Amino acid sequence: MDIPAFLAGQLASQYDEADVRRILSGYGVQRRTTLRVNRLRTNADAVRAALAEAGIGAEPVAWSEDALVLAAGQEEALAGLAVYSRGEIYVQSLSSMIPPLVLDAKPGENVLDMAAAPGGKTTQIAALTENRAMITACERNKARAERLRFNVERQGASHVTVMNVDARQLSDLFAFDRVLLDAPCSGSGTVAQGFRGRFEAAYLARTVQLQTSLLHKAIRLLKPGHEMVYSTCSILRQENEQVIESALRTGQVELLPIDDAAFEGVPRLPVTLAGTLCVCPDERYEGFFVARLKKCARR
Ligand code: SAM
Repeated sequence: MDIPAFLAGQLASQYDEADVRRILSGYGVQRRTTLRVNRLRTNADAVRAALAEAGIGAEPVAWSEDALVLAAGQEEALAGLAVYSRGEIYVQSLSSMIPPLVLDAKPGENVLDMAAAPGGKTTQIAALTENRAMITACERNKARAERLRFNVERQGASHVTVMNVDARQLSDLFAFDRVLLDAPCSGSGTVAQGFRGRFEAAYLARTVQLQTSLLHKAIRLLKPGHEMVYSTCSILRQENEQVIESALRTGQVELLPIDDAAFEGVPRLPVTLAGTLCVCPDERYEGFFVARLKKCARR
């Protein structure tokens, strides 16, 4: 598959030949549609039964009871199903279900989702906490914020406040128990047939600058001694490990390792920061990066 020359050069400089071949093969395959069962409205058995009745095959995923992988070519039938229109399922990539699981928010906590639209992770956090966490979901883009509101409503996420703002402008008077920064990125993990993304040095540099300033803001808004998650759907180290390293250099945060055993079967790429997770794109997974940070307690 043809990919932009700049991206090809970045991959070749960051990964060995075997990994570049895996990545290119992952870009080239038709990715299977995957979905998350919305526990706020139903359960996995009921969804499996509804899919079976509609003749849609679905396979389980080892690391999440809520994740299902549809049989190839059956995604179009999904939109006509009641489980879909009633918000009992959410079409979401498997990789994108990982950050909320790593975040592990608890009932009663104040959670900030800094870059939230269209709301896959916001509504997943609501489901994981049984609607008992107070979630603030920020989105800078007005149309996307509307889409976020729609999804929050449809999924029955009842304790979510949507803010249509640039998260960098949030008042520093806020203090959250947990923060998810699912940062805007180049999308280098999600390249697929027909992809027309922008891959050039100046665009990547601007994206990294935005990611870095959002991460520094996230750290300011996080309570000392508390945890956050940084994620991107990119597999380029400038947007991933290097952004995390810039935060580590401030001495305000430490890296907490992600529990490998919790994500059995997830295809991985090598990382330059031990304890972070980089997912290799393949037939089931988008390329993704996830890191877990803890803000140091005030001395
Ligand atoms: N977390 C979302 C989900 O799981 O559905 C996906 C988020 S997407 C990777 C990044 C989002 O960040 C985009 O919707 C983009 O418009 C938004 N964004 C970009 N810059 C932002 C900023 N400065 N403040 C808040 N949102 C921003």
